[in-house]
Amino acid sequence: MPDSAPFTVAIDGPAAAGKGTISRAVAARFGFAHLDTGLLYRAVGAKGGDPVTAAATLTPDDLSRPDLRSPEAAQAASRVAAIPEVRAALTAFQRDFARRAGGAVLDGRDIGTVICPEAEVKLYITASAAIRAERRWREDGQAQTLEDVLCDVQARDARDMGRTDAPLRAADDAVQIDTSAMTIAAAISAAIREVEKRL
Ligand code: C5P
Repeated sequence: MPDSAPFTVAIDGPAAAGKGTISRAVAARFGFAHLDTGLLYRAVGAKGGDPVTAAATLTPDDLSRPDLRSPEAAQAASRVAAIPEVRAALTAFQRDFARRAGGAVLDGRDIGTVICPEAEVKLYITASAAIRAERRWREDGQAQTLEDVLCDVQARDARDMGRTDAPLRAADDAVQIDTSAMTIAAAISAAIREVEKRL
């Protein structure tokens, strides 16, 4: 691939399925830029005020707030993400990023279906809700009970899959990787193999 050619890897899936880890590893392996699109929605939710205005005026500083990884920020993100005008305000930035020269990996919920249906590689990373909740619970230092984390994961799944605009689903041509019984290393290798097939 010439250095200047766009090449998009779209990685979608529900919360805590392993998308972030896999996306960072794929980007590092191929020298592609990486965008965690969930961070955009988290920043809009955390900014407060009118979410549509927040989305239209997002700055790099908003994306580096220290509180964006909290469970509260996750739930706020999934609420503002159901507003079509919020999604519309964030679309052009994501599309430009996807088609930048030299390759890009974007992870989120609607990258392969809405943001970049022409992506060269589409992966849908999933795992059972129980496994995802347990991973998130360990990552967060067991700050909440496992039952509370499972409820949060299920509430977010229901909201993300049930919304009218850009609901979470696998694109018809996405390769599905179920990481429930996989090590991180095996999941990363599976994703890298899919990219290598298209390069
Ligand atoms: O991926 P992350 O857990 O950071 O995403 C937070 C929330 O942002 C998701 O639950 C979802 O509601 C929303 N989101 C989205 N579309 C994306 C990325 C995230 O709706 N492309």
